[in-house]
Amino acid sequence: MSLRLYNTLSRKKEEFAPLKNNKVGMYSCGPTVYNYAHIGNLRTYIFNDILRKTLKYLRYDLTHVMNITDVGHLTSDADEGEDKMLKGAKREKKTVWQIAKYYTDAFMDDMKKLNIEIPDVIPKATDNIDKMQEITQTLIDKDYAYISEGNVYFDTSKFADYSNLGNLDIDQLKSGARVDEDSGKRNPSDFVLWFTKSKFDDQEMKWDSPWGKGYPGWHIECSAMSSKYLGNQFDIHTGGIDHIPVHHTNEIAQSECAFGKKPWVKYWVHGEFLVVDKDKMSKSSGDFLRLKTLIDKGFNPLHYRFFCLNAHYRQQLHFSFDALDAAKNGFENLKKKIIDLKDSKNNVETNIETKTNYETNFINSISDDLNMPKAMALVQNIIKDKELSNKDKLDLLYDFDKVLGLGFKNMKKEKIEVSNDIIELAKKRKVARDNKDWSTADKIRDELKEKGYVVKDTNDGKFEFEKI
Ligand code: AMP
Ligand code: ZN
Repeated sequence: MSLRLYNTLSRKKEEFAPLKNNKVGMYSCGPTVYNYAHIGNLRTYIFNDILRKTLKYLRYDLTHVMNITDVGHLTSDADEGEDKMLKGAKREKKTVWQIAKYYTDAFMDDMKKLNIEIPDVIPKATDNIDKMQEITQTLIDKDYAYISEGNVYFDTSKFADYSNLGNLDIDQLKSGARVDEDSGKRNPSDFVLWFTKSKFDDQEMKWDSPWGKGYPGWHIECSAMSSKYLGNQFDIHTGGIDHIPVHHTNEIAQSECAFGKKPWVKYWVHGEFLVVDKDKMSKSSGDFLRLKTLIDKGFNPLHYRFFCLNAHYRQQLHFSFDALDAAKNGFENLKKKIIDLKDSKNNVETNIETKTNYETNFINSISDDLNMPKAMALVQNIIKDKELSNKDKLDLLYDFDKVLGLGFKNMKKEKIEVSNDIIELAKKRKVARDNKDWSTADKIRDELKEKGYVVKDTNDGKFEFEKI
């Protein structure tokens, strides 16, 4: 089966055909680095990673770009509120640049822990101001943008397809239902390309421009950085569903008008939200769920990745610690079975047709709009299958893990720290066993159990512990 992806533009699953042969350009909206990523944000980056790995698995020649937003994103996506970076700097009494560096590093660390591959290019908005100004100038020259009250605005009334991506209601847009009034705007849905009339006195990040010293709007960043690295037209753009009605709608408007390409992006692929109690996801509360929260509660980051993989990316996923606990159990069971496969040989001669069927079914599952729950079910079936040798089971699992990213190859028994008195007890038990004094050996085994350890005898005459 060839790859099919759900395209928000057509609201259908479409067969994927890159613009140029086998080459694929993909752009993912990256984090605004004013605070840690919450676990909802991280669900979206896991989804990006699954798409990236699927494209590579299917042997597309991929260039994946993800920006870092370190300027210009206001607390509302529609040009209202405070600059998020400035808000972070005030909160922590640091400079905006320090905030950006600190939270970019923290984000990269989360990505690594979740086995998310780093995209090929990660441009920072602040390194690409020239390109944003160039596009803004083009839009002014083509009469799609205007200067008003010190800011440069995009005129949405000049772009007939403005409502397409978001299926937006034109009347509502005209009445300004989506955004607050801004006296500089000709139409309520117009948006800022360049601010010179800074909304905040102490805006630190400012650049010279033909329209005065200022800083870019948020939406122009993504058009600038994608075109710089992927050209004026490319294949896939991703993000969370919240970006459909404003951010991505505005990106399309300014890009199609500036570059004259239609469609600017062929496939728009959006990830559904992780939903959880609102307070726990609100960065303003300061006490939101992030990867570290899960780690502090005894979860491994891959338990969270496993949790996300068991839902389709276009389904809302409800988070609770009970649900994460279930994922933890599922992951640990799987890990145990995989370690058993590594540690033992079976005498089964593989039925080649069975193996090939798994390979085909895996490709079909990931090709069907990234059906990861189906791919995960295959993993469980492989482990149980009586027509595969252990070696072939592992071959299949390692191969599938190029997409799943659950670290199958690295799975091994974890060495546990054991105190001396426990080791002494185990030694006594061994002596008792060697002397065929089974009742003493059993007593000591029970004592160890009470202390939380299972002792196992290994083939080389030694013993090892498992924590209960
Ligand atoms: P931000 O750093 O706010 O620009 O968000 C980073 C990414 O996370 C964007 O692609 C958002 O669409 C996405 N996102 C925000 N909230 C959630 C959520 N609750 N679940 C999944 N993705 C989210
Ligand atoms: Zn973006």
